[in-house]
Amino acid sequence: MDDLFLKIIEGKIPSEKVYEDEHTVAFLDINPTNPGHTLVVPREHYENIYDIPDAVLCHMMKTAKKLAPSIKSTMNADGINIIMNNDPVAGQMIFHAHIHIVPRFDGDPFRHWKGTPYKEGEIEEVGEKIREELSLK
Ligand code: 5GP
Repeated sequence: MDDLFLKIIEGKIPSEKVYEDEHTVAFLDINPTNPGHTLVVPREHYENIYDIPDAVLCHMMKTAKKLAPSIKSTMNADGINIIMNNDPVAGQMIFHAHIHIVPRFDGDPFRHWKGTPYKEGEIEEVGEKIREELSLK
């Protein structure tokens, strides 16, 4: 298994680590959306949201919550995005689960996705389909 982030965790590839605990490691993204962009990763290999155990994801979120205020104040940011990309179509490039902590600045060029309103009756239909799928699990 070729897992770049495991190599970073083990120190086989250099990184700018900002935090470590028993369950998670956080280091600066090499190609940041904004300076201070940080990745929170679990110590063990999981690909993404689909295979990660609840407890591990909770540890990652706890670490993100711990780091976010310090990253925001250190970088003098105006806000923070917490993002997890899952699958290539959603922008996932590295298949070791990770949460992005992205400092945001007033006037930075990044924009939120533009929403498109549902057509008449469509929101109920979609809601029903998801509830049905969930009930099968
Ligand atoms: P993804 O697109 O999978 O959600 O995010 C992967 C992130 O890992 C990208 O933002 C990318 O810049 C970052 N990245 C890729 N290779 C390296 C690396 O070798 N070191 C560090 N620190 N970050 C990396």
